[in-house]
Amino acid sequence: LQPGWYTVELGFGPENDTRKVIDLEFLDASKVPDFSVNLYSLPSQAGKDSVRILGVSLAREAHGIRWRKNQTRAVVSAPLLSFSIASGRPDGKTVSLEVIDTQWNGGTAALPEQVGRGLLRALANQAVSLRWNLEDGSSLQTPEAKESSVFLSAELRSIVSLTQKSPRLHLERYPERAGPEMDASLRSAELLPLFTPSPETVEIVVEGQGLDPRAVRLADFPGGARMAAVLSWDDGVANDKRAAELMQQHGWRASFFMNRPSLMLPRWQELEALGHEIGSHSWSHPQYWLQSPQRCEDESVLMRKLLEREVAHPVISFAYPFNYVPAFDREGDYVLRAQKAAGYLSGRSTLNGSLRLDDLGEPLALRTNGKFNMPADRIDAAWKRAAAAERGVFYLWGHTYEMTREADWKAFTELLSNYGRRPEVWYASQGDLMVWRWLRENVKVYAEGNSGRVTVRLVRSTLHPWWSARVPVALVLPGTLHSVASANATTTITNGVVQIAWPSW
Ligand SMILES: [Zn+2]
Repeated sequence: LQPGWYTVELGFGPENDTRKVIDLEFLDASKVPDFSVNLYSLPSQAGKDSVRILGVSLAREAHGIRWRKNQTRAVVSAPLLSFSIASGRPDGKTVSLEVIDTQWNGGTAALPEQVGRGLLRALANQAVSLRWNLEDGSSLQTPEAKESSVFLSAELRSIVSLTQKSPRLHLERYPERAGPEMDASLRSAELLPLFTPSPETVEIVVEGQGLDPRAVRLADFPGGARMAAVLSWDDGVANDKRAAELMQQHGWRASFFMNRPSLMLPRWQELEALGHEIGSHSWSHPQYWLQSPQRCEDESVLMRKLLEREVAHPVISFAYPFNYVPAFDREGDYVLRAQKAAGYLSGRSTLNGSLRLDDLGEPLALRTNGKFNMPADRIDAAWKRAAAAERGVFYLWGHTYEMTREADWKAFTELLSNYGRRPEVWYASQGDLMVWRWLRENVKVYAEGNSGRVTVRLVRSTLHPWWSARVPVALVLPGTLHSVASANATTTITNGVVQIAWPSW
């Protein structure tokens, strides 16, 4: 292969829902070190079982190609790999402008041609931070990355590299396309509020020995648990029902993320009746970073409104289709902003990372420990990390359609049973976790009394009753608890914590 810009097409298995990053090694003809390229792939328009790699820029002649080790099985078994020199994407949906190959060193480079306003994507051969200067005198900045998506409100004048590097940059323009038709009546609908500012008070009286009113505080988790365990599932397919039943049998609660066309959307009640939560996976499952800011907002806001019309409670949890990838306009990352506009408390990405209740990172780009069907030793390591952390959170995600054989269901059942029904664990949906986090930050605790009797007054904003019923308030009082009573709430002592089922508004 001669130096130049190529598009690559790969063929493999039927499930290309997940955006893939594939490493290929190109063997250098000049025998100086081999070089490798990350290929960022998107599902091909051509067929379900192939993926078009957006592009690879070869700086030197290559005489061979091999897979980088540790690729997914699906990729290693790819039967088709073809290269074609790109002067424009063959599907005609994007325009490849040109490889900009210049010495940057912080200076500007003239653009090869008028690129226009709208969606642009830059693919660089190294991580680079860019400033995009527009004809109207404004500019925007993208953080250091090998790929950046921007929405330009005016013609592009120049791009400046803010990193002391000389990137080879390839630009792609994405013409704005009409999205799916969305129910116009939803635009005027209001989002259901999760809470209202009006304060609500509950008073409890605890009797016991060695009590200390100064040490009363919210528990780590409801039920006296030390860690939380969360599961979630995307796309709303028929297998969800079987998974929902299994999880319920083993004491787990999950979030099920729906799109408008999801099969399980009309059957949402079957899932919530088993203790699970319906969340949003966008209206039409687009790659957010290739959509305009307005389309992103519509996908998230209108889907929340549609779901709320069905389920009649605030829909507060979101999961990104194809993962979270930022895209920028002048006001910043508009992919994240769409989730803020929709009022979701969290947006689950497919990025990996350890979680603690007090350190979820950006909740609208929530990380997880990985997939439910990853190797058992990795699941166990993630579990042990969460158990060892202060207020640790264990979180797995997946698609129930990934369970295709009975052996897959057996393995999943073993996971549920091995880690299920442990008294030190709070089994929660993504929304439960976020509501508990909100309660810990927002419930005010006033306690007075003596070592034998403590009166606790709890004040918080009015929380929607559906969520209030799912997530009790749990209090820790050092000492020996004999009894708890309240005039207006149902109270229990569980695992040494006082648990309060708040009366609904
Ligand atoms: Zn999906």
